[in-house]
Amino acid sequence: MDTYRNFIKGEWVESSSQKTTQNINPANTEDILGVVRLSTREEARRAVEAAAEAFRGWRSTPAPARGRVMARFARLLEEHKESVAALLTREEGKTLSEARGELQRAINVADFCAGESRRMNGETIPSELPSNFAYTVKQPHGVVAVVTPWNFPVAIPVWKLAPALVAGNTVVFKPATNTPATAVRIVELLAEAGVPAGVVNLILGSGSEAGDEIVSHPAVRAISFTGSNGVGVKLYEQAARRGVRVQCEMGGKNPVVVLEDADMALAVESTAQGAFGSTGQRCTATSRAVVVETVADEFVRRISERAKAYRLGDGSDPETEVGPIVDASQFKSVLSYMDVAREDGAELVCGGGPADGAGLRKGYFIQPTVFDRVTHDMRIAREEIFGPVLSVLRVKDFEEALQVANDSEYGLSSSIFTQDAASVFRFVDEIETGMTHINSPTTGGEAHVPFGGIKATGVGAFEQGSTALDFYTELKVVYVDYTGRKREGNLY
Ligand code: NAP
Ligand code: MG
Repeated sequence: MDTYRNFIKGEWVESSSQKTTQNINPANTEDILGVVRLSTREEARRAVEAAAEAFRGWRSTPAPARGRVMARFARLLEEHKESVAALLTREEGKTLSEARGELQRAINVADFCAGESRRMNGETIPSELPSNFAYTVKQPHGVVAVVTPWNFPVAIPVWKLAPALVAGNTVVFKPATNTPATAVRIVELLAEAGVPAGVVNLILGSGSEAGDEIVSHPAVRAISFTGSNGVGVKLYEQAARRGVRVQCEMGGKNPVVVLEDADMALAVESTAQGAFGSTGQRCTATSRAVVVETVADEFVRRISERAKAYRLGDGSDPETEVGPIVDASQFKSVLSYMDVAREDGAELVCGGGPADGAGLRKGYFIQPTVFDRVTHDMRIAREEIFGPVLSVLRVKDFEEALQVANDSEYGLSSSIFTQDAASVFRFVDEIETGMTHINSPTTGGEAHVPFGGIKATGVGAFEQGSTALDFYTELKVVYVDYTGRKREGNLY
């Protein structure tokens, strides 16, 4: 069995901590992948110091040379795609085909960021004065803390590490405690790609100790976080006091709107894909279906048939369509919402509890679940469940659908199913989410397209695409006066 190690200043070192947790396969809890030592604050500090020391050398490495390292990393990820995908499935539970998709996203992001290294352009700005101009340059911050969740333990770290590194920052990476193996693999491949010692450091440990030590260290100048709202808001508050840059991508409560003229087969299949794919453990998962009353009976009937048809199982079995919940505590938390829903008066249509068929008893499996006649005040309509649970909210028309869809503190993703162009464009204008999909699921994105949320979901610049490097660079504005004379008057 593996004991996962930290990576500090180019060396793999075992933590001295006596506190440990096990890395468990959620599809079969008898399969233990390894042991995580929960690093001490002292070890976390050492990692930040290593990153701080490495900064001068890395920032003065030309950006295209940093990009070449990223391109090599992309090729290594591609070469090891199958083995890393298998590890991801065993560690986190998603199906092999979902894991391969996640790997491909990471490869695409690394390729994209390698290219961005040749486009770190600023602006040149003509002046009000003769023989003067101004220009901007993009510069790295210094040490960046990258703190990530378990649900996309390959793609999310890569979409933060790649732009951070290409921009010339050094990094301390603190992955989720329950997905250490994939984190170690990513860092091994970065090192193999030629990232110099100290430029990327990995600390495995609990958020509240090792994580807290990293994000509050004075040498850390920027924090990129993806995870829950509770933790993200706390980091944002702490960092604000130090004037440190923060980017937080947090929870979602993503709605699909289904109008009367929707292609019903498409709406049902896409909603199911968004709600039950990745076992509902995606920040962009569909958790609310806002359906116009005239088609609601048909929608509920068809989506519950679809939900019941999914093949649950170990993600490494190619027949499996829906894998397990990631761990015991998430399993408990998702199940507790079933009780909450019943108490609040929602109507259970299908699922509603653990799945315990043959081959499922050793894992954290939950039946794809649909609740009907959910109202906006119920907790299952408001809180992120992060499991395969869909709430159907019935509305009378488009206006009410829009209002219900927007009645959430979150604003990550959304979608609408209709054939009517005017409804589509009004929805695009008025829906309060950072991303929206037309006649397709709320999930999914592309490496060269910005990704992010508004309202309580997102703080700071969007990630990926044209915005990928925005968070990881600071602008410097330069005024150039080549008159050789004292300035006449003032600039306003
Ligand atoms: P989480 O509990 O907030 O943890 C995220 C990360 O923060 C983990 O590495 C965690 O470490 C660490 N952490 C916890 N407390 C900390 C502290 N005080 N200081 C520093 N670090 C700390 O989230 P999760 O349960 O892993 O992930 C699920 C959440 O992520 C969901 O809410 C989901 O919506 C969100 N998510 C959002 C997006 C998006 O782009 N909007 C994408 C994916 C996921 P430990 O593992 O040791 O607790
Ligand atoms: Mg695990």
